[in-house]
Amino acid sequence: MTTLIFTHRDCFEHDTGPGHPESPERLDVVWQTLDRDAFRHLERRDAPEATVDQLARVHARDYVEAVLEAMPDTGYVRLDADTLLSPGSRGAILRAAGSVCAAVDAVQAGEALRAFCAVRPCGHHAEPARAMGFCVFNNVAVGAAHARAAHGLTRVAVVDYDVHHGNGTQAMFEADPGLFFASTHQAPLYPGTGYAHEHGVAANIVNAPLPPFSGSAEFRRAMEVDVLPAVDAFAPELLFISAGFDAHARDPLAQLQFTNADFEWATRQLVALADKHCGGKVISVLEGGYDPVGLAEGCAAHLQALMRT
Ligand SMILES: [Zn+2]
Repeated sequence: MTTLIFTHRDCFEHDTGPGHPESPERLDVVWQTLDRDAFRHLERRDAPEATVDQLARVHARDYVEAVLEAMPDTGYVRLDADTLLSPGSRGAILRAAGSVCAAVDAVQAGEALRAFCAVRPCGHHAEPARAMGFCVFNNVAVGAAHARAAHGLTRVAVVDYDVHHGNGTQAMFEADPGLFFASTHQAPLYPGTGYAHEHGVAANIVNAPLPPFSGSAEFRRAMEVDVLPAVDAFAPELLFISAGFDAHARDPLAQLQFTNADFEWATRQLVALADKHCGGKVISVLEGGYDPVGLAEGCAAHLQALMRT
């Protein structure tokens, strides 16, 4: 069975202003990667807009409504120091979250085994009632909640290898024993969260912080010792990946030294766990990645492993 790609042109229209690292060019890089011979056969579907009800499963409804009402007709509205809304943001932020719900629906319907959501802005810093770190709505968490609410799944896991800690996802998951979140990330680094001693209500949070300049060996050890056994023990019915590529050695926003091979290796390990527990089902959602080459090559390595069945 195939790997589906969910994306949408509207995701280019979220304008973050000059010099902002989370730029439309990032999605252009990902689309160029998807046009390579290795991936151009993958079926692409338009990401639908998430509904307010879907967003309100993990966000405060007041927050969702306030964001949608804040959309500017011209210029920018600033939600936090580095998170802005532009006139084109509405479609982007709704489709970024909606892509994951649609991916869940497709995978649960047996239309595909895997899906990759090539969307922006990223989502994993968005908290229940707060935009932060380029993120407005928490795309992967919205999808995980959709898997439970619309498809009756009881155990859903997210593994996040973005270089930043997914504080938003952790905040939404830590009190719910049916949700599992594991993260490798650089520490110290923005947003300053994600300590190893945080375990959630039921050992359902796993943080593996890595010191700056950690590379393949440290990443793979953290995955093998901390992350993969915990996912295995949790035995999810559906596995999500918060796929950020800003831990790539080339990335300008952090100092981890991951290689393309690391992204492929990590994805293969996660696919193997999905084969064991989830009937092979994996839904991957793009998070960060701010070097064009690091993003393109990391993404290609990830997709290669995701497609392999
Ligand atoms: Zn990041």
